[in-house]
Amino acid sequence: MTTDLRGLQPQHPSLFQLAADGESLDFLYARCPACGTLAFPADVPGCSHCGDPLRDAQRIARPGRGELLEYVTLHVPLLPGMEVPRVAADIQLEGGPIEEGVMAGTDESALRVGLPVRAVAVALPDGERFACRFVPHTGARA
Ligand SMILES: [Zn+2]
Repeated sequence: MTTDLRGLQPQHPSLFQLAADGESLDFLYARCPACGTLAFPADVPGCSHCGDPLRDAQRIARPGRGELLEYVTLHVPLLPGMEVPRVAADIQLEGGPIEEGVMAGTDESALRVGLPVRAVAVALPDGERFACRFVPHTGARA
């Protein structure tokens, strides 16, 4: 069963978009025009480094890759409609910021702190959008 994700819209268009391979996600950053720091997400109200309002910031798409910092399996929904169990993770993105993410699948045994991960698109049940999930990055692609 294959879903063509290219016809779907991102669940959070200000955060990520489908990469050229049709499976991976690129994250959207704003490059601060004053200090050059990458801000994430791109629509943050200001640069966390120098305070520039980022009004003229250039929007940059970078591969959604990072390193697993910590993770925990949730068995109780924290929000209405949240699917459980799910493995919630803190991920150090290559661009610098730490983001909360969700791992694909519910098996913690393949995970470890420091594991390289990448973001992929997963179709949502509504058939119209895709969400961001993280999977181990095996290094097959540069
Ligand atoms: Zn700045």
